[in-house]
Amino acid sequence: MNITEVRVKLTEGKNRLQAFCSITIDDDFVVRDLKVIEGHKGAFVAMPSRKLTDRCPKCGGKNHLMAQYCNDCGAKLNEKRASRGAGKLKLHADTAHPINSSCRELIQEKVLAAFSEEVENSKKPGYKPPKYEDIEDVDYDDLRDDLESEKSDT
Ligand SMILES: [Zn+2]
Repeated sequence: MNITEVRVKLTEGKNRLQAFCSITIDDDFVVRDLKVIEGHKGAFVAMPSRKLTDRCPKCGGKNHLMAQYCNDCGAKLNEKRASRGAGKLKLHADTAHPINSSCRELIQEKVLAAFSEEVENSKKPGYKPPKYEDIEDVDYDDLRDDLESEKSDT
């Protein structure tokens, strides 16, 4: 597998979410919504993911696992219903991800290299952030909330 393009959009302000990225595989296939996140042991790449949901026992409405009340009927939900794997709450499921460590390393290496380059560029006078429409429409606030609630340390 060749990663033929990496697009990096740095986030503004100081938070653990450092950048959004998309990668192109073999000039043919794009995966977007990868994230560069500042962890305790340096930056790492998070794969695109969706929030896990479950259904309200009262009305059957779908709710995010961290929701305390049902979005549809307002019923109080069991706060401990999210399953714990290795002591960490599992709130998201990756929607695209490598299935072996060499591929994970390849992606991580390429994305972090492009990220560092973009960080360097951003320090130059007259720097203009690239306009990537496919990356720009991400809901920043939503993602920030996710990071706060998950306190991921991966
Ligand atoms: Zn409900």
